[in-house]
Amino acid sequence: MEMAELGATPKGGVNRPALTPTDIEVHVRLAEWARAREFAVEIDAYGNQFMRRSGSESGAGAIASGSHSDTQPTGGRFDGISGVLSAVEALEVIDDAGIETRHPLEAIIWNNEEGTRFSPTNLGSAVYVGSVPIETMLAATDGDDVTMKEAVQNLRDAIPWAGVRELGAPMAAFIESHIEQGPELEAEELDIGVVTAIQGTRKLEVEIIGDEAHAGTTPERMRRDAFVDAVSVASALRELFHDPDDIMRFTIGRFEVSPGALAVVPGHVFFTIDIRHPDNATLARLGDQVEAVCTEAASRCEVRVVETRRADSTPFVGLVPEAVEAASRERGYAYKHMPSGAGHDARYVSEICPSGMVFVPCESGLSHNERENATADDLARGAQVVADTLLILDERL
Ligand SMILES: [Zn+2]
Repeated sequence: MEMAELGATPKGGVNRPALTPTDIEVHVRLAEWARAREFAVEIDAYGNQFMRRSGSESGAGAIASGSHSDTQPTGGRFDGISGVLSAVEALEVIDDAGIETRHPLEAIIWNNEEGTRFSPTNLGSAVYVGSVPIETMLAATDGDDVTMKEAVQNLRDAIPWAGVRELGAPMAAFIESHIEQGPELEAEELDIGVVTAIQGTRKLEVEIIGDEAHAGTTPERMRRDAFVDAVSVASALRELFHDPDDIMRFTIGRFEVSPGALAVVPGHVFFTIDIRHPDNATLARLGDQVEAVCTEAASRCEVRVVETRRADSTPFVGLVPEAVEAASRERGYAYKHMPSGAGHDARYVSEICPSGMVFVPCESGLSHNERENATADDLARGAQVVADTLLILDERL
């Protein structure tokens, strides 16, 4: 609740874009909590912040946990920051209990996960693991022409005593706690979601090209109305992606009719397609049919389909999800295995070390919304699972 005051909105949500003064204040407070316990604090070139409790074995890689502190402009109090605080809490209770671990334990704030302030944008975790060139990302600017490089320097200036972390420095394992952002755990009265995968996604853009014409003088038989064909195409796509099991996610989020004048038959329609599914084969099979289905459904207009982004499903298997399940079981929490519908930092971290996620129920599945809510008890169980998972991994790794 203390963190929710930083960037608080009148409607009870949070507006805290990456590395703005309020977001930097989150980093400063957590750095100071860490320093009070003599945990090391480091910041890397992209503004990711690491708080480390040392381990007994020299050279052992860190077992880490964390998430992001930035929010959507009309975001909630829990998306991201609850995962960061679970990690900090886990390190603190392990410290209070005087438990010596072989590996260092780390709490991480990944920079810029929501990516709303800078353009071009990318997740701090993606930059850390090397999937995006750092120089391009540091040159990104916000609406006031502040570069990411300057914003990271502002963070450094606010915590001048922090050490420097090398991008891509190895980690032994990573666990991210996050609110579910969906309705399932609450509906099934479960405490914990053991995340099995982050589902894959394909983004496509469709153009329907017809001819502009006079709305009063052009007979229907002579029209090449882009809107009429676009409606048929959209219906055919809905049919293609209809899934009786309700696992496939299909969204047309943008739909633009041009020229957008009352008395002109539309000559052009542009729309976007966002499809997601945990199974890569399903995503490939159905995604590959989009162009043919669009062309078939359009009767008089030309259709162009371009794929703008494709990311395979990221499975979480092995040690980390096993440890999350063991921790949940031993605590007597009601849990189930489930894929994540949204993308998260753990997707990228899994490229450099065994990774996984734990989901905590959120009220009515509402997220990216100022009314986002989660109970203290549920969040505490999530943090407990993080703490237990860190210790189980310390034994098994
Ligand atoms: Zn998030």
